[in-house]
Amino acid sequence: FLSHSLQAKMSRPVQARRLEGIDKNIWVEFVKLAATYSKVNLGQGFPDFPAPDFLIEAFRRALNEGNHMLHQYTRAFGHPPLVKVLSQFFGKLLGRDLDPMTNVMVTVGAYQALFCCFQALVDEGDEVIIIEPFFDCYEPMVKMAGGTPVFVPLRPNPPKDGKLMSSADWQLDPAELASKFSERTKAIVLNSPNNPLGKVFSCGELGLIAELCVKHDVLCISDEVYEWLVYDGKQHIRIASLQGMWDRTVIIGSAGKTFSATGWKVGWVVGPDRLLQHLRTVHQNSVYHCATIAQEAVAQGFQRELMLYGKPESYFIQLSKELQQKRDWLVQSLDGVGMKPIIPEGTYFLVADISQFKSDVPDVPNSDEPYDYRFAKWMVKNKGLAAIPLSAFYSEAHKNNYTNFIRFCFAKEEATLKAANDILQKWKQEKTS
Ligand code: PMP
Repeated sequence: FLSHSLQAKMSRPVQARRLEGIDKNIWVEFVKLAATYSKVNLGQGFPDFPAPDFLIEAFRRALNEGNHMLHQYTRAFGHPPLVKVLSQFFGKLLGRDLDPMTNVMVTVGAYQALFCCFQALVDEGDEVIIIEPFFDCYEPMVKMAGGTPVFVPLRPNPPKDGKLMSSADWQLDPAELASKFSERTKAIVLNSPNNPLGKVFSCGELGLIAELCVKHDVLCISDEVYEWLVYDGKQHIRIASLQGMWDRTVIIGSAGKTFSATGWKVGWVVGPDRLLQHLRTVHQNSVYHCATIAQEAVAQGFQRELMLYGKPESYFIQLSKELQQKRDWLVQSLDGVGMKPIIPEGTYFLVADISQFKSDVPDVPNSDEPYDYRFAKWMVKNKGLAAIPLSAFYSEAHKNNYTNFIRFCFAKEEATLKAANDILQKWKQEKTS
């Protein structure tokens, strides 16, 4: 009798309904594949070069200088020195006075910032517009909040003169974008510079999105984690600075991306109190509190950057210069072997066209797995080079239209990029011999 009742209990569904259909995650599978097979890992987005000395030094000081309270809890919505300097920094960028206590909140990376936004602002039945291709967690996070994602693609316009494509050639169709807004739309997610394409949205594109947000009274969740990684003199424009947008925008940032320290998992949100007060409710009922020492060190990093703002010694300026060089190396390597790169205007990602390499990896008609997934798996197992299939950044409905591309991360040491080049060159020679 006892064993029967135990069995009956165990057979009931244990999983909450909100998890249905969101259990797959590209990173779990591809991070494992890269760890098992890769000689050169240009897959997941993190630098393999060290974080800057001044940041590491700040962490060391926080640990060693005898303030034992830095080992204890700090303020739940953000360590005071960090929210203070973030309010000064972003206040300067946005040209408005920010209150460190109400206009800024610290989170466990930008990832938790996103989670707080969706949980706090999206209700059952609300629609959230997501621009494709998109950082993959937006879709499951909207669904977990009970919302419905509505997708609108960036459409590629191939350049006519045989030049390499740029991420700027991927554009929204204004009429198509407008058609996605309705009275059910609660928010739009904007990610500029965009992961995976590296697109930096232009003033015109942001103006169009802003106009539609204002017209339909829609919120904007603006994921700006790559705000400092823009190239060729391009400017990152903050949508919150456009007319009518401050009151309806939450800006999301990441010390991981900003200071090349993704493992620290320090992120933040900046926005009006009328929105942030609800994010604080989610935060206080979930994570509540982020690691104190990491916040202290990031605060010191920002103090340095505030002092050096716009100067050549600024890390933000130096990092984007270095990454532009790395981007150019990878563009050259890929173009040299015919894996056509789409030149990114920002971020540390680059998407490349694998059409000319298709003959190496046979297509399997009617397979459930998109071609680029099979290609990326084959490449890491047979060539030791890890990358991420682009279709992972599309909704189920649209992913089959984008299976000829893979995404590389170029935030890597020169030696790593050289090793990737060697693999590609050798591969090309084998193909032609
Ligand atoms: N947004 C985007 C667009 C990202 O690419 C990432 C990290 N890959 C995040 C958010 C998450 O950042 P964090 O590591 O600070 O949580």
